[in-house]
Amino acid sequence: MEKIAVFPGSFDPFTIGHESIVRRGLGLFDKIIVAIGTNTGKADYFPLETRLRWIKNVFNDEPRIEVDSYGSLTVDYCKKKNARYLLRGLRTAADFEYERAIAQVNHAMEKDIEVVFLLTLPEHTFITSTIVREIIKYGGDARKFLPEAIDLGEVNP
Ligand code: ADP
Repeated sequence: MEKIAVFPGSFDPFTIGHESIVRRGLGLFDKIIVAIGTNTGKADYFPLETRLRWIKNVFNDEPRIEVDSYGSLTVDYCKKKNARYLLRGLRTAADFEYERAIAQVNHAMEKDIEVVFLLTLPEHTFITSTIVREIIKYGGDARKFLPEAIDLGEVNP
């Protein structure tokens, strides 16, 4: 049976930290669906369509990666896509506490779905979408934190 994982997030924007988790995940899964959750309660900075396009550009060369968005419970979305794994990245102890709660709730709701965590590379530990957004908002150069395929010229929220 094909091993399909969903990598859910806001990706507002998608950073090199996210990209690294997905590329490393390709060693573990047959297919990864990068899925933008649209019901997280977080206000969007970049429009959904822009975020989808950016992530598609990043993985243009990789047929085993699909890019999508969803507006339901993450476990329901996984079932719809026949995904038995949720992929998440862990940076810090704060991430761990947050992720532990979500993972345990998800597992309690859907026993057949396992959450798989990859520890971030040391050089990506400090990269957060929030900080990258702030840099962009105030006109700084955020390119070194973004995958090359993301065109900052398109940054027009
Ligand atoms: P969410 O709104 O679900 O927290 P994010 O877009 O912030 O979505 O993050 C999606 C996933 O990527 C989470 O598992 C998060 O821990 C992970 N992640 C975020 N930044 C990094 C990074 N720099 N390195 C590795 N993983 C990261």
